[in-house]
Amino acid sequence: MATKYVYFFGNGDADGDESMRAELGGKGANLAQMAKKPLSLPVPPGFTITTDVCQEFYKLGRKYPAGLAAEVDKYLAKLEKAMGKKLGDEKDPLLVSVRSGAAISMPGMMDTILNLGLNDKSVIGLAKKTGNERFAWDAYRRFIQMYGDVAMGVDHDKFEAIIDKEKAKRGIKDDPELNVEELKNIVANYKKMYKKEKGEDFPQDPKKQMWGAIGAVFGSWMNPRAITYRKLNNIKEGALKGTAVSVMAMVFGNKGNTSGTGVCFSRDPSTGKNEFMGEYLMNAQGEDVVAGIRTPQKLSQLKKENPKVYDQLCKIRDRLEKHYHDMQDMEFTVEEGKLYMLQCRNGKRTGAAAVKMAVDMVAEGLITKEQALLRVEPEQLNQLLLPQLDKDAVKKAVEIASGLNASPGAGCGQIVFTADEAEEWAKAGKKVLLVRKETSPDDIAGMAVAQGILTSTGGRTSHAAVVARGMGTPCVCGCADVTFKDANTIVVKGKAYKKGDFLTIDGATGKVYEGQVAVKPATISGDLEKFLKWADEIRAASIRTTPSKQTVKGFDVYANGDTPKNAEDAFRFGAKGIGLCRTEHMFFDEPKLTAFQKMIVSENTEDRKANLKKILPLQQKDFYEIIKAMKGYPVTIRLLDPPLNEFIQAESKEQLNALATKLGMKPAALATKVAALDEHNPMLGHRGCRLAITYPEIYEMQVEAIARATAKLDKEGIKHKVQIMIPNVVSYREVEQIRAQAEAVIADVNKACGTKLKFEIGSMVEFPRTALIADKVAQFADFFSFGTNDLSQTTFGFSRDDYGKFIESYLDQRILEDDPFATLDPDGPGALMEIAEAKGRKVKANLHLGICGEHGGDPASIALCYKLGLNYVSCSPFRVPLARLAGAQAVIKAGIKKAPAKKPAAKKAATAKKPATAAKKPAAKK
Ligand code: ADP
Ligand code: MG
Ligand code: MG
Repeated sequence: MATKYVYFFGNGDADGDESMRAELGGKGANLAQMAKKPLSLPVPPGFTITTDVCQEFYKLGRKYPAGLAAEVDKYLAKLEKAMGKKLGDEKDPLLVSVRSGAAISMPGMMDTILNLGLNDKSVIGLAKKTGNERFAWDAYRRFIQMYGDVAMGVDHDKFEAIIDKEKAKRGIKDDPELNVEELKNIVANYKKMYKKEKGEDFPQDPKKQMWGAIGAVFGSWMNPRAITYRKLNNIKEGALKGTAVSVMAMVFGNKGNTSGTGVCFSRDPSTGKNEFMGEYLMNAQGEDVVAGIRTPQKLSQLKKENPKVYDQLCKIRDRLEKHYHDMQDMEFTVEEGKLYMLQCRNGKRTGAAAVKMAVDMVAEGLITKEQALLRVEPEQLNQLLLPQLDKDAVKKAVEIASGLNASPGAGCGQIVFTADEAEEWAKAGKKVLLVRKETSPDDIAGMAVAQGILTSTGGRTSHAAVVARGMGTPCVCGCADVTFKDANTIVVKGKAYKKGDFLTIDGATGKVYEGQVAVKPATISGDLEKFLKWADEIRAASIRTTPSKQTVKGFDVYANGDTPKNAEDAFRFGAKGIGLCRTEHMFFDEPKLTAFQKMIVSENTEDRKANLKKILPLQQKDFYEIIKAMKGYPVTIRLLDPPLNEFIQAESKEQLNALATKLGMKPAALATKVAALDEHNPMLGHRGCRLAITYPEIYEMQVEAIARATAKLDKEGIKHKVQIMIPNVVSYREVEQIRAQAEAVIADVNKACGTKLKFEIGSMVEFPRTALIADKVAQFADFFSFGTNDLSQTTFGFSRDDYGKFIESYLDQRILEDDPFATLDPDGPGALMEIAEAKGRKVKANLHLGICGEHGGDPASIALCYKLGLNYVSCSPFRVPLARLAGAQAVIKAGIKKAPAKKPAAKKAATAKKPATAAKKPAAKK
């Protein structure tokens, strides 16, 4: 049989159903489902042309596949029979709408045309038949306007100008006030204008109109609006077949005061409350509500005006929710007191509403916990976790500028212009907002204490943005209206703000406000807490077979964090450990920095050791605090990772002289040292464990500090679980050697302190070679942690600092499907991880595996980590809740895929109950 391109719905039945979203689009599939049993809702009949046609349409260079015309004719005839009217009939015309609808809803992005089938003759027939001349001419003028605009590309404003002119004559405000004569005038002027614009008369042949509209809808799939929408919503080109086209009989909300149209939600989409809500407009047609021409009324108005229809609508709301097990967004029209349903779909909602509805629906028995967990997009949780501007306060606030919304959340504080000031002021107990042209790694400490960060240059991937997101600090970037006048003043659009003045930023919108706007902190409580506990239970109970055929139980979420404050955040958000505790910041505070710099410029081992000795007690204190804050949860401490030249910055002569004075050296001697440290490619240079191979005393000092700190806690009876991690490993010999040195240091500390401490010592896997020799590395490593930032950089050969120049082109041209630094690439680094898992666990069956790169907070990457058999993911503290959910979703989805194969019996039983649908389905699905 040839491919079926057209599916009918109406008369209490339908060819398709809700399972055919891919073919019929969400709108078409749900229209079919609503029309047929068991819902049997009042849906005007019609037919849907499939998305396959759209796909063919573009393949064939904007032509229709053979056989489509005949099929459409056949179903149009069926529709005409069902309605007892013919399209464009001069006495009693059938009017139709031609609607768009893809498998994923793209509200308002594509085109829809109403009242099609009207022409100079049928408008008179319609007026006579309905006894409502005003209505007929209103419908005709709407049709000419929509068709002219949408299908023929005549500028919308040209139509509006004609209406406005007509209204101005009599000084009327609203469209419904226009009388028949005025509507006739408008139609005449529309047609004149149309002819002038297009050089031909407005099409009178209804069939020609219909095909023009169908072409316009298919064409709208590739309009810039729709393309941009897909891009913004991460819908990849090619992921969907296109739009379907539904042609359906019109019902009229513009037939006077017993008619109207509305949009409603079965629950409140912004709070999630189980309250029916919506908007309704009397004597109006569909588009009017959305277009905002008139202010619609609340649904409660419909209740007053027509309680019977309102009641019916309430019942439909309940039935649709029970049927779809989800919140419904519905379109309806009332024609002379009779209710029609025109659309339903799972409604879009805020993060807070999504969680509340999911939890409520479990309590109501509408869905299972697993379904509830799949209901919420992990990214949506971000909205719930950041400090938010108080909504009422925003209404009264003065907005002074706006920039890029780089890191969400609200930040309010006294403005300061350097990181040092930020630190000083914060130490003095003040809340600061750091305002900079841009930020650099030197600013980290100041950024960390700021309530928010505002920069005048730089984009969403600038240092400020990336770091702010990592810290969960609100950030607005690239706010060009901010200019720096002097050390104490910024100017925003002509107005000066002094250091210490209050400003507030909203990182979710990019807006900047004057003064202090009230901010509310985020907490995990109530519904969200309950919801995330379910996620934890699902992950904890999961059992999977890894690619290496090992059985792994559970899937944990850790956080990356370097300070006791980070640890606190991490636990507040539900982390079960710290997967990456960087130690470089421990060298940046004075007096540690000076001692470390002296160590770097030392001429000999002796001097180096002497300087490291000065740092030891200070680092020991840092470690003591962070391990204590961990409360016995595992903490993975990474030994020094960055290249040494990051600690010696002397770009200008003044800087060099100042540094030389500080270090007690001659500037010339320091300059020689600085030159010697300079590297062409520091990321691939002398860094990580390579430093320990040349200067073993650095790691020895760090290990000693860790061991002594732990020994102290041990004696105090405080729980601890410390793991030591070696970065930048490329050879098992590095691990073997550094491990031996570390163990010697630990043994010494044990002897000195009378303790029996043991530490797991593990290796990072962040280069292809490390993954390929994982079996050898595993002999000396107790665990692996995948550093997927570097693993992605080195597998792709893309520098993360430079790839911004070309990644957009790569994604646009679909050379790559995803940004490899946002989503872990399964074919590159992912494949290497699979090798590392297999080789590593061959040597040590229960080798503990985790990820500490930024991918650990990305849902798709988390799913891949689950599949690869990792024991945990570690991400920034503020992404922990998201990862808890995304991990649970990975577990649930992995289970779902297997289920149908296991339960053929259940499926049979289900189909046996519905022989009618079962018989149709195979044909429908081709
Ligand atoms: P969108 O996807 O932009 O919502 P729709 O196809 O849903 O576009 O149509 C736009 C408006 O026209 C909606 O309010 C809808 O209810 C209304 N509408 C569509 N078809 C009909 C019809 N057959 N009769 C009456 N109103 C209709
Ligand atoms: Mg709609
Ligand atoms: Mg690294």
